Amino acid sequence: MNLELARGKDSADPLKEYRGRFFHGDENLIYLNGNSLGRLPMASLERMNQLVAYEWGERLIRGWKEGWYTASKRAGDLIAELIGAKPHEVIVSDSTSVNLFKLALSALLYQKCRSDIVSDSLNFPSDLYVFQSALEAVGRKGELLLARSQDEITVEADVIENTLSEKTALLSLSHVAYKSGFMYDLPQITKIAHRNGAMMLWDLSHAVGAVPISLNEANVEMAVGCTYKYLNGGPGAPAFLYVREDLIEKLVNPIAGWFGHENSFAFEEDYRPSGGIERFLVGTPPVLSLEAMHASLEVSREAGIAAIRRKSLAQTDYLLELWRTRLRPLGVSLNSPEEPASRGAHLAFSHPEGYRITQALIHEKNTILDFRAPDTIRFGIAPLYNSHEDIFVAVCHLEEVLTEKRYERYEVQGLGVT
Ligand SMILES: *Cc1c(COP(=O)(O)O)cnc(C)c1O
Repeated sequence: MNLELARGKDSADPLKEYRGRFFHGDENLIYLNGNSLGRLPMASLERMNQLVAYEWGERLIRGWKEGWYTASKRAGDLIAELIGAKPHEVIVSDSTSVNLFKLALSALLYQKCRSDIVSDSLNFPSDLYVFQSALEAVGRKGELLLARSQDEITVEADVIENTLSEKTALLSLSHVAYKSGFMYDLPQITKIAHRNGAMMLWDLSHAVGAVPISLNEANVEMAVGCTYKYLNGGPGAPAFLYVREDLIEKLVNPIAGWFGHENSFAFEEDYRPSGGIERFLVGTPPVLSLEAMHASLEVSREAGIAAIRRKSLAQTDYLLELWRTRLRPLGVSLNSPEEPASRGAHLAFSHPEGYRITQALIHEKNTILDFRAPDTIRFGIAPLYNSHEDIFVAVCHLEEVLTEKRYERYEVQGLGVT
């Protein structure tokens, strides 16, 4: 396992040209944090230049009629392809947390005789807070029940099924867990929800753009997801939501706003929801972010999810091999599943000095890995722009920080964004 081997894998990589489709300000930076914030696509940079100088600067209010007004829908059409849905079932709006609130609450309002929400203990905390507030909004008729992970890495399908009951209105899980990278079998879990009479709402934030997803094939009712991770949409880029076509007119958006109105510009006194997926919009979208994100989607679409997943699995296999030979002997443990079908695109490791190690890597090795309290170090590998060489060099840097105890020069963790 050496640098030549990594370079050999890179030269045989069918997606190698895609690295050049992204902006590399510092050619020497090793960036393995694409699971939190993807790199800037050149297409988004060019789009932003045109958008700011011409559309905002010159066209001003006319921009709405010249494309901004339909941008949420057009971006949704592209995302539909990546998640196995029909274009009219997907739209871009708000943040993932807000979309999750809208859909979870609409499901609670729809399921008249059932009132609980089931999720799991590996889910992203914001999702759990959202479920709590959706339950509050309907007067706390039901409760939030969590299927517990035994090993903090995976959750068994049986444990999910045993948490469901005749009171479960909604099962909502992250397809890929944000910390461990564990991936559920989406069709299997959706079936379990359905045979127990619950609706299924998937959070695709750590999955979209990294793994193949077929929402229609699995008959999923609802989904949400983030665009600034593997879709490289940019910081704060708006999220997307999906509602199965037969449910669009049956579900009510609990935040009625003018963008969800059948005719936004009629300025009617009463709310009449749009008959289409637009009913889940609320107000004015963040046009700059939306357009930058829209441009970024082309890159993933062109590369194709099957090819992205193939490379991702090769890269995570390679990293696992490096871990076994070089990192495990130094006290680094694996916090992700080893089984390929059960993992997303990132791998998580742990070390008691995780935080200080990531600090040493940033400050001394120009290497950005991702830390999650209390001791998790994530390798967020983005197949579109990360090479095997990136992985190899990052592992060598990590090895050096550990053997030379370079982390000892850094402060233990304070508060703030990590
Ligand atoms: C990243 C992520 C989010 C982000 O939510 P925001 O509203 O964009 O802050 C939500 N849920 C999951 C599972 C995530 O991974």
